[in-house]
Amino acid sequence: MRELYWLQQDLRLRDNPGLLAHAAASELVLVYIWQEPRPWCNLRGIGQQRRRVQLEHLQDLRQDLRALGQDLLFLEGHPEQLLPALVQRWRLERVGTSRCPGDYESCQLEALRERLPVPLQVHGGNTLLQRQQLPFALDALPGQFTPFRRAVDQLPVAAPLPAPERLPPPPAGMAFPPLPAADIAPHTSLPLRGGSRAGHRRLQQFTFGEAGVADYKQRRNCLDPLSGSSTLSPWLASGALSAREVAHTLARFEQQRLRNESTEWLYLELLWREYFHWRALLDGPKLFRFRGLGTGRKHRFCIFDPRAFARWCQGDTDYPLVNALQRQLLATGWMSNRGRQISASCLIHELGLDWRYGAAFFEKHLIDYDVGSNYGNWQYIAGVGCDPRGGRRFNLQKQAAEHDPDGIFTTKWGGNRPRQPLYVTDAADWPLTPSTTADDHEGP
Ligand SMILES: Cc1cc2nc3c(=O)[nH]c(=O)nc-3n(C[C@H](O)[C@H](O)[C@H](O)COP(=O)(O)OP(=O)(O)OC[C@H]3O[C@@H](n4cnc5c(N)ncnc54)[C@H](O)[C@@H]3O)c2cc1C
Repeated sequence: MRELYWLQQDLRLRDNPGLLAHAAASELVLVYIWQEPRPWCNLRGIGQQRRRVQLEHLQDLRQDLRALGQDLLFLEGHPEQLLPALVQRWRLERVGTSRCPGDYESCQLEALRERLPVPLQVHGGNTLLQRQQLPFALDALPGQFTPFRRAVDQLPVAAPLPAPERLPPPPAGMAFPPLPAADIAPHTSLPLRGGSRAGHRRLQQFTFGEAGVADYKQRRNCLDPLSGSSTLSPWLASGALSAREVAHTLARFEQQRLRNESTEWLYLELLWREYFHWRALLDGPKLFRFRGLGTGRKHRFCIFDPRAFARWCQGDTDYPLVNALQRQLLATGWMSNRGRQISASCLIHELGLDWRYGAAFFEKHLIDYDVGSNYGNWQYIAGVGCDPRGGRRFNLQKQAAEHDPDGIFTTKWGGNRPRQPLYVTDAADWPLTPSTTADDHEGP
């Protein structure tokens, strides 16, 4: 059979069940479709570091595929238009892809299914557990994390699958244009490269190499990457590393070296990721609503103040630590979990803005952007998601004293900004009388 496999958030050869399911085809088209994010919350486009890391994941995958006589067809546009055209042009008989959470993604998949003249097979996503392993139907997923964890934390995680030893060739005569080049280098404070190779190196370093995992629990709140938490998220989010590969390496470390509170905590965090993945599949459009899952006890109100939002985005607020964190995100594409909580709490609870604007800004810039984890965590802090306490407001001064006591992080990222007036409109700006409207002015 001549088949097509659409790679999405599974940019790897190892432990890729969807790809393996197409390894027996007679000819195989492997395609990745670059989709510019739709404008949302006054933001458009994608951050430079996020774009760079994504292109590196693709370069690395292409290199692996070429070693097997295959290649990666890189296209830009709408999958529901491009894929049916490819199927017709190359007379393909079957299409496959992996499941990605997100409302837009689900609608897109359905639109694609309707337009395809051949069957579409959707394989499991990049999760620890398969859907049929969950001890409840998806629509009975617990509303909070703790009961979910209790129900799944003893379940076995299937062993990762090996990479295919061979792959069918692409159709003769198919052209593979070069991938676009990234227009920025990694920031010196996070010299991280995309691709499975780099992901496996980091996993090895964090476990059997430098054994950072052994005191992860004590160090996970560190604001810098690579020295506290695992910093595996960029590879997990793109699927350059599978969650099962991480869980099995961790289990091997526990068997061969050490099992303690820290190793258990890392697994707990993987379960948070898992929980948000299944929630996103279940919650659909509720993940993007201002009132979220609608379970919050209090009604929330907010304002839209474009200047306050712009100041938060650029790291120019009255909160030095938040400024430093936002500047770290803009420069590197990454922020620690603690940092994300502090910045999100500031936008929601100090500036009184709509949480979705903050989530959209993170979406644009994070090199580990993941729809379920991002919007799920933002909802949690805003008190409109799965938090039993109805939201988290962090005391920003206390957080700074605890996590940056000497102000080294804040100074490094230029977080101390000159104070600004609260309002910047005065009598000369508003109101406009008919005699002073722009139409009445002559010349440039
Ligand atoms: C407001 C906000 C937005 C976030 N947006 C994202 C996002 O877009 N993508 C993303 O991967 N994570 C997101 N997180 C979760 C978390 O901050 C990152 O996963 C973590 O900081 C990545 O660094 P790490 O790999 O060193 O994590 P580690 O602490 O080493 O954890 C290992 C892995 O567990 C998972 N994980 C850890 N914490 C969480 C969590 N709270 N929720 C879900 N998964 C978790 C990640 O896959 C992570 O790589 C967000 C958290 C907050 C508070």
